[in-house]
Amino acid sequence: MKSLKDILVDGSFSMDKEDLLCYGYDASGIDMAPAAVVWPKSTMDICKLMQFAWQNDIKVIPRGAGTGLTGGAVPVADSILLSFEKMNNIIEIDTRNLNVVVEPGVINGDLQRALGQERYFYPPDPASLNTCTIGGNVAENAGGPRALKYGVTRDYVMQIEAVLPDGKLIQTGVQTKKSVVGYDLTRLLVGSEGTLAVITKIRLKVLPMPESVITILSAFGSLEQAGKTVSRIIADGIIPATMELMDRMTLVAVNKYKNVGFPEDIEAMLLIEIDGNSRAIQADADKVANICNGFQGKVKIAEDSASRELLWEARRAVSPALYKISPTKINEDVVVPVTKVSELLTGLQGISEAHSVPIACFGHAGDGNIHVNIMTDKNDKKKYDEAEKLVRKTFKLTLDLGGSISGEHGIGLTKSKYIDMELHSVTLDIMRGIKKLFDTKNILNPGKIFPGTDVH
Ligand SMILES: Cc1cc2nc3c(=O)[nH]c(=O)nc-3n(C[C@H](O)[C@H](O)[C@H](O)COP(=O)(O)OP(=O)(O)OC[C@H]3O[C@@H](n4cnc5c(N)ncnc54)[C@H](O)[C@@H]3O)c2cc1C
Repeated sequence: MKSLKDILVDGSFSMDKEDLLCYGYDASGIDMAPAAVVWPKSTMDICKLMQFAWQNDIKVIPRGAGTGLTGGAVPVADSILLSFEKMNNIIEIDTRNLNVVVEPGVINGDLQRALGQERYFYPPDPASLNTCTIGGNVAENAGGPRALKYGVTRDYVMQIEAVLPDGKLIQTGVQTKKSVVGYDLTRLLVGSEGTLAVITKIRLKVLPMPESVITILSAFGSLEQAGKTVSRIIADGIIPATMELMDRMTLVAVNKYKNVGFPEDIEAMLLIEIDGNSRAIQADADKVANICNGFQGKVKIAEDSASRELLWEARRAVSPALYKISPTKINEDVVVPVTKVSELLTGLQGISEAHSVPIACFGHAGDGNIHVNIMTDKNDKKKYDEAEKLVRKTFKLTLDLGGSISGEHGIGLTKSKYIDMELHSVTLDIMRGIKKLFDTKNILNPGKIFPGTDVH
């Protein structure tokens, strides 16, 4: 039988224990070392690797930066971990046609910086943007604060080049603005969590940067008032670029982590950003401030780009900051219609109080996407088991409000046992059939998304 040495050049793979450990985890906290790590330099390397894996029934796990929160990039035993650090080129920036072509290992923040120099931007901006890769973003259909006005990754992917589990190369999509030729395989691959094909090249839409931005902070005495403010702003026809929520526990955690001096005697804060033409956004900002005041929100405007940047740095630090106040957090990312945000927040407060388990909430309130952090300690079994019960209750509440159990983090390993709370068995069977069509041998990222296929 051939080995990795026969198909890849030296330095593009490793079986050293330290490498295996370094690539055996993601931000879900689950870990499992693979049998080998491969760093392909080209699509051809990936074709050869997948042919080899297919012929030898070896499982392959694609991994971007490992910032995924649901275990999507966690290896299974005896698998090859495919890491894209050496495929991190921005191949083309074509501002005249408003698109770029990138390799999957490009870091989202690096793309933003390259585009920023030409006064363009790529709207999907996950809070992990300084680390996560575009390949990982496409595989997870990542969102971010700007999703409220600009949409999520799926809305920006025009074309994908991908390698199938058996090593065949495919191209999906078009480089034109529209096309109706066959099924939309591009949209199918976006959000497929590395289970259908290995993404090797992506063409993304980009936009010119808005002329100006106004950043508003508003502090509230209750989560309910903050939630109602969010839906009123949208109902009044204003679509801010972002409308982020942080509850009191989150603000306290960020203060401890970054010492930013957020008020701690309030129940919630909204970070609202309005972008566009200077005159138009000033009128919208005034309306937003009035709405906040109407719900007893105390409003402050970030005066300059330095204070604005500081606020975003603090917002992006929320997830690591929460570990400062609790050893373990069970992290969910439910989404509800924006008119139901207030009910979701008060419902979660009720669940937390009834079970005496703290729940910290933050996230993209403007599009109804709340990150629900159930605070616990995995070394205390009784405490952890009690906290875990709240996941199902959180999902039930979300679904009763017409929502979905994952807004942007995907299903991966951690949520697969809950997927049938949302998807009907017939729908799930169709999805399983699609997986089978792409990957009859189940070698690409097995055990992810579908319940009952835990391969650990
Ligand atoms: C602090 C923090 C903040 C976050 N904020 C946000 C946020 O605001 N919005 C949001 O949506 N998410 C957020 N996330 C989650 C995470 O950053 C995203 O899911 C991101 O898209 C993962 O990218 P990655 O490169 O780290 O991918 P990984 O975690 O390495 O992989 C994620 C999935 O993509 C697959 N994959 C990776 N590359 C490829 C490829 N080339 N081909 C096929 N499959 C591939 C993997 O197999 C896996 O299933 C956050 C995470 C953290 C830790």
